[in-house]
Amino acid sequence: MNLEAFLKMSYGIYLISSKSGKEMSGYIANTAFQVTAEPPKLAISCHKNNTTARVIDESGVFNLSVLAKDTDAGLIGLFGYQSGHEDEKFHRVQHKTGNNGAPVILSHSVAYFECKVVDKFDVGTHYLFIGEVTDGELLERDKDPLTYAFFRDEMKLMAPERAPTYVDKNKLAKDREDAIHKEEKSNQEEDGKDLGGRFICSICAYVYDPEVGDEAQGIPPGTPFEDLPEDWICPICAAAKSMFISDN
Ligand code: FE
Repeated sequence: MNLEAFLKMSYGIYLISSKSGKEMSGYIANTAFQVTAEPPKLAISCHKNNTTARVIDESGVFNLSVLAKDTDAGLIGLFGYQSGHEDEKFHRVQHKTGNNGAPVILSHSVAYFECKVVDKFDVGTHYLFIGEVTDGELLERDKDPLTYAFFRDEMKLMAPERAPTYVDKNKLAKDREDAIHKEEKSNQEEDGKDLGGRFICSICAYVYDPEVGDEAQGIPPGTPFEDLPEDWICPICAAAKSMFISDN
């Protein structure tokens, strides 16, 4: 079986949030889709070990924000890869309380839906929650939503380990690795310089590309990984430079 086939599946990127009692929780999801029109229902797949799965289970509600194509990678890092106190994460982003009592993330969102859980299926590692849409709003008419392909190919991110669509990079077909190296080699030959190749974060799979640099941390394009300052951190999950491994 070729795991690369899974990479041809297309999805959006969403922020799922919920609240039980005083406990708020949220996570980044790509597996969310509409399953019926009348009444409108959405399905989400949530890892059983994810705090949000428990919070949704307890409260019976969840909200889903559709993230914009220009979503800041920091927001995805915060809710997708960084552990920490959930309440604090919400304090760092713009949100409101939905009519169902759960928080609705407004930062970088083009639309949102409020849902009431009407069904739950145990699908192994994950729960599939079916939510009837009780409210929803369009926030940004002219902005495109973020797609999983853009997240992967342009933002250079990979689904975290608990995502239903997680693909173990080490198990990806060797063909793909070979194809990437061939392309990189020819790019380097074209440029006539060796920037030392790309480095990948072992925590979140963010790829540091020396040709791109890291503008947010003041690293100009053309900076080899070796030349990054020692206090440079992964822009997505805040892992130390030492957590990066060569992608060669
Ligand atoms: Fe990282």
